[in-house]
Amino acid sequence: MSDRTRLDQEVIVIGAGVAGIYQIKLLADLGVDATVLDAAGDLGGTWYRNRYPGARFDSESYTYGYSFSKELLNEWHWKERFSSQPENLRYLNYVAGKFDLRKYMQFNCKVEAAHFDETNHLWRLTIDNGRQLTSRFVIMTVGLLSIPTPPRFKGMDKFKGRSFHTFHWPHEPVEMIGKRVAVIGTGATGIQVIAEIADKVGDLTVFQRRPNWCAPLNNGPISEAEMADIRSRYNDIFKTCRRSPGGFEHEPDRRGFYEVSREERLALWDKLYGSPGFAIWLRNFREIFTDEKANAEFSEYVADRIRRRVKDPAVAEKLIPRDHGFGVQRVPMETHYFEAYNRNNVHLVDISETPVEEITETGLRTTERDYQFDIIVYATGFDAITGAFDRIDIQGVGGAKLRDKWSDGPSTYLGMLVHGFPNFLMPSGPQSGSASTNYPRGIETGVNWCTKLVNYMWDHGHTRADPALEAQDRWTEHVKQMYSAMLMRKAKSWFTGYNSNVPGHEHGKIRYFVYNGGAPKYVSQINEVAENGYEGIVFTSGFTSVQRQGEDGKQRRENA
Ligand SMILES: Cc1cc2nc3c(=O)[nH]c(=O)nc-3n(C[C@H](O)[C@H](O)[C@H](O)COP(=O)(O)OP(=O)(O)OC[C@H]3O[C@@H](n4cnc5c(N)ncnc54)[C@H](O)[C@@H]3O)c2cc1C
Repeated sequence: MSDRTRLDQEVIVIGAGVAGIYQIKLLADLGVDATVLDAAGDLGGTWYRNRYPGARFDSESYTYGYSFSKELLNEWHWKERFSSQPENLRYLNYVAGKFDLRKYMQFNCKVEAAHFDETNHLWRLTIDNGRQLTSRFVIMTVGLLSIPTPPRFKGMDKFKGRSFHTFHWPHEPVEMIGKRVAVIGTGATGIQVIAEIADKVGDLTVFQRRPNWCAPLNNGPISEAEMADIRSRYNDIFKTCRRSPGGFEHEPDRRGFYEVSREERLALWDKLYGSPGFAIWLRNFREIFTDEKANAEFSEYVADRIRRRVKDPAVAEKLIPRDHGFGVQRVPMETHYFEAYNRNNVHLVDISETPVEEITETGLRTTERDYQFDIIVYATGFDAITGAFDRIDIQGVGGAKLRDKWSDGPSTYLGMLVHGFPNFLMPSGPQSGSASTNYPRGIETGVNWCTKLVNYMWDHGHTRADPALEAQDRWTEHVKQMYSAMLMRKAKSWFTGYNSNVPGHEHGKIRYFVYNGGAPKYVSQINEVAENGYEGIVFTSGFTSVQRQGEDGKQRRENA
């Protein structure tokens, strides 16, 4: 064996969030020589990073947790129906500890490059400290909301107070009492942080460019007795998640919107507005997603709710979205968000009318006036879905760069493979079933599928798997078709690749980022592909994978 064919690991997993943790668990169970690299200082991904006040699930906690271990399900007590960041991070640490997974993880290892070596069927990775590593497979669990996008205001480095993107919220407590705080952005994060800090800060000014539709989370504690009940129903809960389009407990109301009277519609909506989580979105009539008139009627219902909750009618009108209907973007869930604007210390500035001109030493200047702040919070979201891929110099066959291939939007096979990038797996990649559903349910599906694929290759002596271009084109076309019926295709949202802070992601060009066919359809298609001997994937057997018994008695696979 020449040195050029030496594998440092059979598999390198990039990212130690929900997906990477589960991926390494399965590889460890198989006794495979694998490691997880993460740029962050510790595991947890989303829940390690986003420490801003108010950060919490909008998935029911007990449907977000892993489903793979009965023991784990029986041991863990979710304390809230929608639990907060500290508890979520504790949970992921508990899982890593319980299954002894930390020993496979390496932190402060940012992968800067991954180049495919065609001769030797392996990947050559470069870490930011200059370290080089090789592996047969690279599994990308880099996250779909893991690259924050600060705004592009002039003078951002001039501000003398404290400022941070919500993703970079400091680990130590931030003193907010009595402080003059600005929050820029009213997406899912802004909505959480504004509601949480409104009654704690001295003065809060919210800079809003476009309002988002949002609805009450209706959170609450989970008692011992309730948790015992949830544990006894886990099988049914996960069965419902598998059956539902969104991977949640919420299933759509299958009555036709126009088949029931207006009174019946209102009765349903009154009930949903008081129900927990995404019920308002996902237990609604299906026409909300596809029919302009139905969507407009429901949007007007929610607008009235906002008017009832916000005392100042002018402020209420500013908080009602005009450029899109309810639910065509991922719906942020809130707790007393609208009531925050009834407080004397909270002010709303519409920066579509008076744009921010620059950040100054003491605050910021809009076209209208100067503002003074102690803290500026940028709640401006993420370079979603492809951002983490674009940040790595990924080169496949013939030195082709993934970021060039995807410059107009991703093209994948099943959301998990890319033509010309062999042995490069994305369990929850763009166009997979993860991003449009309850993530962990999609993640488990993707990780299981990818693990079976690599196991299949080891069993058959294959050392290279590359999806055929036609198969990829077919999948991408299918993903596009799924958008055509959805109102979301018109929205300025990360579902369509819109982000004004990322060059090239301005409005007007749809990026087909997510799979909109629903979880059951997605799962049945990827399973069918596997059952048919992984049709659409071209396998090559250049190097023999051999198995040997490790010192610990576990099977290890190595290249010969
Ligand atoms: C505030 C917030 C709340 C959310 N709430 C929900 C919710 O309630 N329900 C839901 O379904 N989803 C939610 N999501 C989506 C959430 O991202 C997923 O639920 C889930 O955490 C994704 O896990 P992941 O492992 O795929 O990615 P992540 O958790 O993002 O982890 C990716 C990891 O990859 C690492 N990484 C990236 N690039 C590199 C590189 N080049 N080199 C090395 N390491 C790298 C990152 O450091 C990170 O640790 C939320 C997201 C946010 C931001």
